[in-house]
Amino acid sequence: MNAVQVLEDLKRRFPNEPEYHQAVEEVLATIEEEYNKHPEFEKANLIERLCVPERIYTFRVTWTDDKGNVHTNMGYRVQHNNAIGPYKGGLRFHASVNVGILKFLAFEQVFKNALTTLPMGGAKGGSDFSPRGKSAAEVMRFCQAFMLELHRNIGADCDVPAGDIGVGGREVGYMFGAYKKYTREFTGVLTGKGLEFGGSLIRPEATGYGNVYFLMEMLKTRGLDLKGKSVLISGSGNVAQYTAEKVLKLGGKVLTLSDSDGFVYDPDGIDREKLDYVMELKNVYRGRIREYVEQYPSAQYYEGQKPWGIKADIALPSATQNELNGEHAQMLVANGCIAVSEGANMPSTPEAVRVFHDAKILYAPGKAANAGGVSVSGLEMSQNSGRLSWSAEEVDRRLHEIMENIHGACVKYGTDPDGYVNYVKGANIAGFMKVAKAMMAQGVI
Ligand code: NDP
Repeated sequence: MNAVQVLEDLKRRFPNEPEYHQAVEEVLATIEEEYNKHPEFEKANLIERLCVPERIYTFRVTWTDDKGNVHTNMGYRVQHNNAIGPYKGGLRFHASVNVGILKFLAFEQVFKNALTTLPMGGAKGGSDFSPRGKSAAEVMRFCQAFMLELHRNIGADCDVPAGDIGVGGREVGYMFGAYKKYTREFTGVLTGKGLEFGGSLIRPEATGYGNVYFLMEMLKTRGLDLKGKSVLISGSGNVAQYTAEKVLKLGGKVLTLSDSDGFVYDPDGIDREKLDYVMELKNVYRGRIREYVEQYPSAQYYEGQKPWGIKADIALPSATQNELNGEHAQMLVANGCIAVSEGANMPSTPEAVRVFHDAKILYAPGKAANAGGVSVSGLEMSQNSGRLSWSAEEVDRRLHEIMENIHGACVKYGTDPDGYVNYVKGANIAGFMKVAKAMMAQGVI
């Protein structure tokens, strides 16, 4: 494989998909050497088959708002690769969604899911519909219209979607209800369901908790832990909230949270009581993070800015892709940051990643650090198949074990000759080898 040539070819065939190109480039650059040790991979043109999604569904979603106006949105499902298990990956509802973004997320998901050691292929889907500012009834009608089309192409043993940005327990519930109605089947076709109808304990917490477990493993390699460490978190949704919860539990101090309008900096720390306020603000009232400073006036709100300029020991980006650029990374390093662990998918730009690697700080890419979410989704699938439900302790114990194993795989494949662990390389090679072997065994199909 010549990584540059493969990438150029993909750019020519699929123009205007910069996030997809970015995700592919990062993987190819790190697996090229390992790939070229296997001439049988090249003979089977494995790399092209791994980069191009197996299937993409695109459809129109038509729904009616509370005033009776009819709207159309686009719906998508990218089924990228099912070599090691049924397609699995979240649904994103956000105005910015397009096929290129979903292709990047589905591609990343293939490697992430392979790392979890659970049998799950990679997929992603969603819509350019934004739940922001919509009533619950409008969100419900949209979810039903979306599922009216999608239900034909998913299934408990075929493709099992979950949540992502803009899709939480409420939306999963509406979509599950619609799927059940259209198919007359009660199966584990979605994960992230309510506890009363097949959901798993710890699923809402899993991505955030898992990221902090991964961070702890990284800190351990340098004889450190979280006690007394100051932490910057971006986002204030599902991942950010439970990341903050676990950081507090382990003795860290959370300084920031954000949303797409700006960030809040609380020099006294966002403690348990303040986090409860944020959870209610975001999950019940669906408010904006700027309202935090009305409640806690000693905090400051920065409109239209990212939190990476605040001095802290650790950064946990947990909002969205490319939210932390090269300049931000330089500020973090200059301020003495020792670790960055990604709750979001691809939040750091390639320039930022270079800065972290050059400074030799601990840096974990999302496909390793945020794999806790899909791992517990995998555990939810197991519980649904067996028609049973495990205790919170049992699921949390398994989540912890999976995050430790992913860390171990990254160290195994990503340790440089000088002892520095390149977690990007480690995660990519470990995930790639598993999928590649399965694809080879299954023939050209
Ligand atoms: P939520 O919708 O619950 O929260 C998203 C948060 O990020 C909100 O605070 C939102 O602000 C903010 N945000 C969204 N888009 C932007 C943007 N363009 N610029 C700045 N801020 C933005 O989503 P999740 O917490 O579930 O997801 C967060 C990240 O974690 C995503 O990258 C997702 O792919 C990733 N992830 C999620 C998993 C899960 O289990 N949920 C699993 C693995 C990864 P606002 O309210 O203003 O929109």
